[in-house]
Amino acid sequence: MEERLTKKEAQNWLKCMFATYTTRDAIAQLADIGFKAFYTHIRSVMHAKYGILETTTCSSCSTPSKQCRLCSEIGNQIWDNHRFKKAKLKGPSWNNTDTTQWCTESWELAKCYMPSTGYRDKPNANSTDFNGIIGAIYNCIWMQCYFTDDLSKDSNICTKVFENFFSIYISVIDV
Ligand SMILES: [Zn+2]
Repeated sequence: MEERLTKKEAQNWLKCMFATYTTRDAIAQLADIGFKAFYTHIRSVMHAKYGILETTTCSSCSTPSKQCRLCSEIGNQIWDNHRFKKAKLKGPSWNNTDTTQWCTESWELAKCYMPSTGYRDKPNANSTDFNGIIGAIYNCIWMQCYFTDDLSKDSNICTKVFENFFSIYISVIDV
């Protein structure tokens, strides 16, 4: 059988794949940290606005129409931070999320900002694909602010993503 890929070409493809995975891993890490901070943020907003203490949690509301005040306010905050909340048939992907875990797993908040199918069974950033993670970061308005704040620093997780990606990319085209 004809060998279509030379050893060198095959090595370059492997490096490209590695670069993509490295980028996904870095973005997954960023999203993980970001949505933990997002949860802390919405809880502090709820405390300031409605006096709901950050220590108050709930794990029993599973029906969106029958939620306690805490859970329904978390839902409002999720909706309020969605980039396309006003667009018809868009807004948060409620069917992705397990509302009983909103107070314990910040990734359940992230899932509301991902495409509406294929993410319900992804419990954390590591098990989520590139599209889901990018969607969550892009659709959550608050995450954009977080990005901008961080980008003002000389070294942040975002610059590290790009440094990593480009150094590997350059080593691929350099061969
Ligand atoms: Zn509740």
